[in-house]
This record gives sequence, structure tokens and C-alpha cells, in this order.
Amino acid sequence: MKAGVKILAKECGFDECRFARVDRAPHAEAYFSWLDAGYQAEMLWMERGREKRADPAIVLPGAKTLIILAKNYFQGQSPKRGPGKIARYAWGEDYHELMQTQMIKLDDFLSIHGGRQKCYVDTGPILERDFASEAGLSWHGKSSMSLNERLGTWFFLGTILTTLEFEPDTPARSRCGKCFRCMEACPTKAIVEPYRVDARRCISYLTIENKGPIPEEFRKLIGDRIYGCDDCLEVCPWNRFAQATNEIRFSLPLKLANLSLSELAAITEQEFRDLFRRSPIKRIKRPRFIRNVCVALGNVGTLTDLPILGILQTDANLLIAEHAAWAVHQIEEREQLRNEAS
Ligand code: SF4
Ligand code: SF4
Repeated sequence: MKAGVKILAKECGFDECRFARVDRAPHAEAYFSWLDAGYQAEMLWMERGREKRADPAIVLPGAKTLIILAKNYFQGQSPKRGPGKIARYAWGEDYHELMQTQMIKLDDFLSIHGGRQKCYVDTGPILERDFASEAGLSWHGKSSMSLNERLGTWFFLGTILTTLEFEPDTPARSRCGKCFRCMEACPTKAIVEPYRVDARRCISYLTIENKGPIPEEFRKLIGDRIYGCDDCLEVCPWNRFAQATNEIRFSLPLKLANLSLSELAAITEQEFRDLFRRSPIKRIKRPRFIRNVCVALGNVGTLTDLPILGILQTDANLLIAEHAAWAVHQIEEREQLRNEAS
């Protein structure tokens, strides 16, 4: 039965499939203390249902097993964006929808064998990374991301909670050793200690979850990133072993690869919806996306970007207008320094 689930998981498009016993999450207390320190910033949903998160048996009464699935999203050397970086996980189609669809056959299979299931892809009150470690699929890196010997850090996790009982796999052990590269590479020093990220300093949070203005102290450090940040992943030595995924839906569409920052700054509401229709980027909506593009332009833009920033500076949306004004100021200041130096 376990072998059958593993084979089916592979057929459904997953790269790893491991099993953990339903039990209290081993790092539940560490998670609570992270919340109590306020490191989750405005992500209030992380605080809801604390006890549920700590104990999957509350999520699905009678649950016996967590089936943890991993899907590789490493695109290898496929086309990248020039200025205006997007975190790899968001290059292609939204993984939530894609993986939920791929889980349906597994859910059906388990139901036929008498199981009741709940399937999640980052969507449920489950400490997925904790149970991925328990299932031996990955270990917690000092960056707080999960690492797998074969996939490195470039994979998504999915969880099936089932009332069926399976023999659990052996838990993973940490293989970070004396490495601290992710902590050293973080531009905003958001990894405040091993395994602890302060979301209030993290570029992924600031450019994605954060709904308001980006605090000025972080704007220059964001560089040309317009959605998320991969710096702590790019430097991880375990990623040397990562193989490119055969899931082409995670590739960066050529159209998005070729749009300049100025062109992205100019997109209308309708163009935003069309461009990101299948992408996770659609979740932050146009004003937050334009906010991010303005910050990137402020950091790497030139005089040729001033016309579009001038228009955005008078935008009715104050989030856009304020970030555009900041960008104009940065470009003009750089230009002035350049003139003084020449
Ligand atoms: S995503 Fe970027 S900002 Fe956030 S912890 Fe990693 S390196 Fe730091
Ligand atoms: S960069 Fe080093 S410390 Fe950080 S997650 Fe990777 S192996 Fe662990």
C-alpha cells in the first residue's frame, strides 16, 4: 500500500513522497515563541489556530498519517529576467493550484482504501516543514527553509492528512554542519539567528505579504528585486546537486522575461491581470506590484525611466505615488552625483 502511494505520487508529478506519524509538531513551541517575538509581522493568519497547527489530529479527527509530497521547481539555466528579479518559485504558474490538482488522484486512491483525507499546499493549519523533517524528506536549514539532499532548497511541499495508518519513515537529521552562508548572504540581516527569520526585515515579506509602504531603511537593500528574494537559497551549497525540473509550467514566460522595469511600471490593471493570470504574483494585485517596481527603479533606474515615474507620482493610489516619488528622488540624486564626479 505504501509502495503503491509512492508510485502513484510519482505518476502524479511529485518528486518525493514520505510518511510521518500524526503527532504533536516537534517544533511547535519554537513556532509559538517565534510568534510571541512578533517575527511574523502583519501575517496575522499565522497566529490563528495555534493549537491546531501544533496538532494535526485537531485538523482531522482520527488522522493517523501525514503524507508529505515534494515537487521540484528548479528551472536550471532557463531564461531569467534582467533587472527586476523575481523569486524562482514565482516564475511560472501558481504551484498551489497545480499541486492541489495533482493530489486529487492520490486523495481518490486513499478514499478507495477507506481513508478520509485533507490535502494542503501551504493552505492549511499544518507545520509542513516540521512534518517534512519527521518524514525524512528534508531538514530545517539555518535559513528556515527545508533542504533535501537531492532537490536542494528548490521544492514545494504538499501534505495529505489521512485517517489511514502507514509505517512512518525515519526522520531527517540536519546536514547544515558549520555552514552559515545563508545568514551571511542575507542583504537585510533578516536571519536573526540560525533557524529564525524576522519577517519584518525579510525582502520576501516586504515585497509580497506586506500590504503597506516598504520601510525606507530597506528600500535600497532590496536592489532590483520586484517579487521575493532568493539570496539565502542561491548560496546554499546543497543546491549544487539540484537538477532542473521537467515541469515546464514553472518556467518564466518569455514575455515576462523580456519586459523592462519601465514597461512593467506602465502596465494597466487589465494588462496586470492578463500577464499574471496563472502566476502567484496576481495575489499581490497591481498597486503592490507597481510599488515594488518603483523601488527597483529607484535603485537601478536611469533618466529614461523618469517619464513613467512622473506619471506614477501623481497616481490616485498613494502607495504607488509615494514609491514613485521616492524613485524619482533616488534617480535624480544619482544623476547629480554622477555629474559632480565628471
Ligand atoms: S529571502 Fe532574502 S531577505 Fe529573506 S531571509 Fe532570505 S536572503 Fe534574507
Ligand atoms: S546555506 Fe548552509 S546553513 Fe544555510 S541552509 Fe544551506 S547548508 Fe544550511
